[in-house]
Amino acid sequence: MASAPRPLIAGNWKMNGLQRSAAELRQVIEGSGDLVAALDLIVCPPATLVASFATLAKGSAVAIGGQDCHAEASGAFTGNISAEMLKDAGAGAVILGHSERRTYHRETDREVRAKAAAAKRAGLKAIICIGETNDQRLGGSTLAIVATQLQESLPDDAAPETVVVAYEPVWAIGTGVTPTPDDVAQVHGLIRQRLTERFGPTGEQIRILYGGSVKPANARELLHIGDVNGALVGGASLQAEDFLAIARAAR
Ligand code: PEP
Repeated sequence: MASAPRPLIAGNWKMNGLQRSAAELRQVIEGSGDLVAALDLIVCPPATLVASFATLAKGSAVAIGGQDCHAEASGAFTGNISAEMLKDAGAGAVILGHSERRTYHRETDREVRAKAAAAKRAGLKAIICIGETNDQRLGGSTLAIVATQLQESLPDDAAPETVVVAYEPVWAIGTGVTPTPDDVAQVHGLIRQRLTERFGPTGEQIRILYGGSVKPANARELLHIGDVNGALVGGASLQAEDFLAIARAAR
């Protein structure tokens, strides 16, 4: 049997952080020393901080990521940022299809897939988010929704080096509520099954992160469920201490 993928803990700062927040990143870098043998760390600050954070993190074990990118490399798209620009600023990854992008910017699976192709073109790892809303969960369609989003949002050439899947139940994001371990295991098991059906043995190595109210207090339980290969952390990633505590729990 192939060994489990190396865990990844990624922090999504969302629209939070100013230049002075570099102090928090410095603390993450300092605290990451004994973790890097066991796992990967990515911090995704807002776009305004990507370049300065990448400079600060250079030579450390912490990679920097963006939170979205446009599918085109350049052009008349006011306010947007391309994958090439993130790469040029020093990013190594980008979050795509986060539920806040899907909700507030009406992003579709098709657009997410095009952005994932752009990320690959630019040499960025795409962290592709999928997950059901509360209404979908209550309606009993969690597995169907997740399977469809997975199928439609991932490019056909997805590989462990280029793509990470983040299962983020929308109702668990920022609410302090999490699914039961059995529910997480069921959804991650389905995602793993679909990945191996579609991509063969390499599908076993594509990382599947859990995201939604991961905190130091619940990280150990969530991160040691089968087919959970790490976490995408929102609120708790803003404090270096909490982010590191979650990363330690993944070992
Ligand atoms: C997120 O926004 O990706 C997320 C998981 O947020 P939180 O950890 O705050 O629920």
